[in-house]
Amino acid sequence: MVQFNFYVNGHAEEMRRFFVTHEGKKELVVDTGLVSPLSVDFGTLARAFTDLIQKNVTDPDLKSWMLPNFSTTTSEDVTTTTVVMMATVKSYFEFIGRGGLGGVWSKARCYPGFIADGPVGLFDFSDLPMPGVVGLKDWDELPGIKVHEYLHEYARKFHLLERCKFRYRVTNVRRGALEKGWIVDAENTGDDGNQTSQTFDCDKLIVATGNFSNPKLPDVAMAEFKGLAIHTKNIGQQYEALLGADIESVAIYGGGKSAIDAVNLCIEAGKKVHWIISDKGNGPNMMFSTRLKWGYHVGQFVGRWKDVFSVSIFSIDTFFGRFFYSGKNKLGTWLIGKFWSFATKKTKTGGLYADMTDENRQKLLPESNRQVL
Ligand SMILES: Cc1cc2nc3c(=O)[nH]c(=O)nc-3n(C[C@H](O)[C@H](O)[C@H](O)COP(=O)(O)OP(=O)(O)OC[C@H]3O[C@@H](n4cnc5c(N)ncnc54)[C@H](O)[C@@H]3O)c2cc1C
Repeated sequence: MVQFNFYVNGHAEEMRRFFVTHEGKKELVVDTGLVSPLSVDFGTLARAFTDLIQKNVTDPDLKSWMLPNFSTTTSEDVTTTTVVMMATVKSYFEFIGRGGLGGVWSKARCYPGFIADGPVGLFDFSDLPMPGVVGLKDWDELPGIKVHEYLHEYARKFHLLERCKFRYRVTNVRRGALEKGWIVDAENTGDDGNQTSQTFDCDKLIVATGNFSNPKLPDVAMAEFKGLAIHTKNIGQQYEALLGADIESVAIYGGGKSAIDAVNLCIEAGKKVHWIISDKGNGPNMMFSTRLKWGYHVGQFVGRWKDVFSVSIFSIDTFFGRFFYSGKNKLGTWLIGKFWSFATKKTKTGGLYADMTDENRQKLLPESNRQVL
């Protein structure tokens, strides 16, 4: 088998037609769930890849003639040969094992139609430009799954993955002895679902648990409702059930970005949507179209110069600080007032609000200053 592997890789292009019909390398992705690629069981992972290889090659019997199946075959034999099988076709496939990194942008939370509110190029670290990683151009719309791919690649490339501990939940943080450092208690959930506890000592502690890890469910009586009730955090996992043929109408509570994404998703899927926003909050988020004529993104025309239109304690003693915001220059005060009332009016009547009736527009504008219109 190993000799065959050497031969195929040495004559990859001549042998291509015996294995696949595509050119170059096709990506085969195995979702490893919440487990770090470094803690995953490689036997299980390799077997999942061989199933995917079988689905993507021309020979329907490739797997059965490559993998041993004798009465004396052990699972170690199968694991070793599956790895050799992967090596044999590595000129035709890229093998990607994806874990549970990403928080809001983890694979489990992404679904078709979930997009970032900033385009490609406004969302990446300067030491790894996003276009080359996700195969999109600067200023393209950025699907959530591409943010996930990017974060994963960043963590892989800069060796952050091996420093991560996946499937751990911090349950308690205490001061270390003599008030120095911290002791962090965590629970780990194994593949068998069993939990074990572990403690970590550290000198410094950074808490980066996000604002959006714990779903906030409204206090609504649900006992009588027999349909599907989910939080937007779980749309990625329950996407098919939500958009199933048996679902005709969907009620969506909330006015933030995830509600807007969910409304859009359900409308696009042809569902009747009831959008319910509490009158005790601030109403829905502001929405505006970032695309200008000919597809340009508004961000392409905005640089640091835009900061002169906002008052800042860091630029009180600059030309624009004095001109626009000191109140001592009548022309400057008048100009900045005009600029903002024009921008406010344009935002509220243009873009997504342009074709709405006044009544619908009133409902969908953020609450503050609604009466200005
Ligand atoms: C639906 C939605 C859409 C968004 N869209 C955008 C957008 O388009 N653009 C934008 O800039 N921002 C957006 N945001 C804001 C978003 O929160 C940030 O982009 C970003 O993901 C926040 O990163 P974070 O690392 O602070 O938190 P998170 O991404 O929430 O990550 C927190 C991590 O901490 C983990 N964690 C929590 N508690 C514990 C614990 N006790 N022990 C161990 N781990 C724990 C969580 O599991 C999670 O992995 C959006 C948010 C939501 C909810």
